[in-house]
Order: sequence, then structure tokens, then C-alpha cells
Amino acid sequence: MTDWQDQLNSLEEMGLLRRLRTVTSAQGSHVEIDGRRVLLLCSNNYLGLATHPQVIEAARGATARFGAGSGGSRLISGSMSCHRQLEEALAAFKGSERALLFNSGYAANSGILQGLFEDGDLIFSDALNHASIIDGCRLSKARTVVYPHGDAAALAALMALEAPRRSGRWLIVSDGVFSMDGDLAPLPELVRLKERYDALLMVDDAHGTGVLGAGGRGSGEQLGCLEDIDLHMGTLGKALGGAGAYLAGPAAAIELLINRARSFIFSTSLPPGVPAAALAALEIVAGEEGAHLRQRLAENRTRFVAGLRQGGLTVAEHPSPIVPIITGEPEPTMAASDRLLAEGYFVQGIRPPTVPDGRCRLRATLMAVHQRADLDGAAQAVVRAVRGADR
Ligand SMILES: *Cc1c(COP(=O)(O)O)cnc(C)c1O
Repeated sequence: MTDWQDQLNSLEEMGLLRRLRTVTSAQGSHVEIDGRRVLLLCSNNYLGLATHPQVIEAARGATARFGAGSGGSRLISGSMSCHRQLEEALAAFKGSERALLFNSGYAANSGILQGLFEDGDLIFSDALNHASIIDGCRLSKARTVVYPHGDAAALAALMALEAPRRSGRWLIVSDGVFSMDGDLAPLPELVRLKERYDALLMVDDAHGTGVLGAGGRGSGEQLGCLEDIDLHMGTLGKALGGAGAYLAGPAAAIELLINRARSFIFSTSLPPGVPAAALAALEIVAGEEGAHLRQRLAENRTRFVAGLRQGGLTVAEHPSPIVPIITGEPEPTMAASDRLLAEGYFVQGIRPPTVPDGRCRLRATLMAVHQRADLDGAAQAVVRAVRGADR
């Protein structure tokens, strides 16, 4: 007991202690937090679908018809028609043979890598990949080689180095959109490398699905190489506004995961309302309304970033709704975040171990349902908070 308290104390001294904040309203453009209404600038509900009437109605209808829970894992009694329908829709959406649902993105990445790769295989993993990919690499018996973030030339050199003693399967795995920086993976270069070395390519498009590409099919569609990706992982809890995750890919990979992925096998399947809501969200994403929402989101990003730049802040150029404002050390970062909250803007500060030491940041995310005037005020407030924290 006591040493747990010591650990907490030392986290607090380093400015790294994390605490939960409770939202007491629906997840809209604004939320109520600590009894106050604030502009929400740290949600992954990019298109606002978490509160879309059709999505809520789908969840309600399936819950009323099929119950609040599935009562079992997929391999026992918990594989229901709503799971199958969503899997078929996701496979079609990504242009894959089959798809398989997981209970979360974390469960998906850990199960996919553990289930499909084994001793003798080699995984090349981007240095800034999501923690769930890192843990999936640890759970698989394959060896992992980490390549410098987004650096296809460095990856090519590492692959050339490994090639003479190759034994098993090779995989390149990358986030499509990197969650803390918002930049995109160099997918066309990764495709060339996977072809040159007869490797597989897996893309985690948690932040790209629904948001990027003309049809919302993600970073692969945006960069013109959707059909070259072998394993499409994505989540349902971000732009799709619900919960859960999937892998879309070859039928044999899906069948093997049903037999081997521990996070899939040993866990109660998603409640019926969850896949039903995701199916409704997917229909919106793939239709005209989705295109309209993506347009609004892109306009909001442009507007907000322009405001930050007018205030003298440096913001990287990329098409994702994730806008990091690098602040360096934990204390000024959290001071800026607290000051913003006091002014009515909820922008999360991000610290190690989520980001490397010295790379703390305010991580703002845009939503399609934000209003322009609100974003102008928010940009000015961020500039003031960051400047104030400098001094
Ligand atoms: C959020 C995220 C995950 C985890 O997904 P959950 O459904 O929230 O568990 C995985 N990968 C990336 C890149 C993410 O951003």
C-alpha cells in the first residue's frame, strides 16, 4: 500500500499525476464539466455522430429488440445478427473480403498482432505507433524492429539489413493518422517497401476512418492506396461516435483470428446496441451527409489553425482534425490547459508517457459540429494561454 502512495507522490512531484474529469452532459460541441458548460476541443467524436438522432435511434431499437447485453463471447452464444451485419458492412466499406469486430481498438491491436504473427516472424513498427500496437507486438512472439517515425528511407535500410537472414512473415505496421501529432503515415512509400520485400502492411486508422478520403474510408483512400493495405484496423469509438473496433482483411486472416486472438475469444461481445449504432453511423459516413460533415470538419480545422497562426503559434500542416500545440514541459502545459478550462475551453494537455519527454502539448481536436465564432474565440484563448505559460 505505502509504496503505491509513494509512486503517486513522485508522479505528482514530476507534474505527471493524472486525474479524471467528469462530463455531466451529452457529448456535443459543448459539454458540461464541473458544473460549467465549456467548448469541447479534445473529443475524437469528430463528426458529432455520438449524438446523431439516427445513431441513437439505432442503438435504442437494437437494445429494445435484442437486449442490453449479448450474454456471451462470440464463440459461445454472443455472436448476434447485429455483429454480422456490421462486419459485412465494414468489409465492403474497406474493400476487404471479411471483417471482424473487437470490443475496442486496444483489444483489436493486441489480438490481431498476437493472433496473426508468431515466433520467426518480424514486425516493423513506427516509433510513434499507438500503445495498443506496441502491446500487441509484445504479446506476439514475433521479433519487433522499431523504425524512426514516418521515415520510409530508414525503414528501407532496416529491411535491407534484415533481408539476408529472413525466415518467416514480415509485417509493416503503422498508424494511418498518428494520434498525438495528427500527421499521416507515408503510406505510398510503405506500400512500395512491402511490395519490394514481400511483406504485409497493416494500418491502424483509428483517427482516419470516417474523416479522411472522399468517401471517409480513411488515410489509405486519402493517399490513394486503400487497396494496397492488407490489414485495415479501425475503431468505432472516434469518428463513428460509438465503441469497438474492427479488422478488415483477407478471409483466412479473419478465420485465424477467430481461432487464435485471445482478446476476441476470451471476452463478452459488444452489446447489440453498439454494433447497431455503428452500422447507422457507417451509413451516414458513406453517404452524402458524411461528405458534408467532412467538409465542415475540414473548414473548421482551417479556421482554427488560421487563428492560431495569426497569434504567432506554429502549427504543422496536415489534413487530420488533430492539432497539437507543442508546449514542452508538463507544468506549463497543464497550467495552460487549466487556464483554458477556466475560460470555458476544454483542451487536454498531453504528457509523457503518452508523448516523449520534452514534447508535452496541448492537443486540440476539431469537430464538424463546432461553430466558427466559437473556434475564433478558442484560438485566441489558446494563444493567450500558451503565451501566458511561457512567462
Ligand atoms: C484510440 C486508438 C486506439 C484504441 O482504440 P479504442 O477503441 O479507444 O480502444 C488504437 N489505435 C489508435 C491509433 C488510436 O488512436
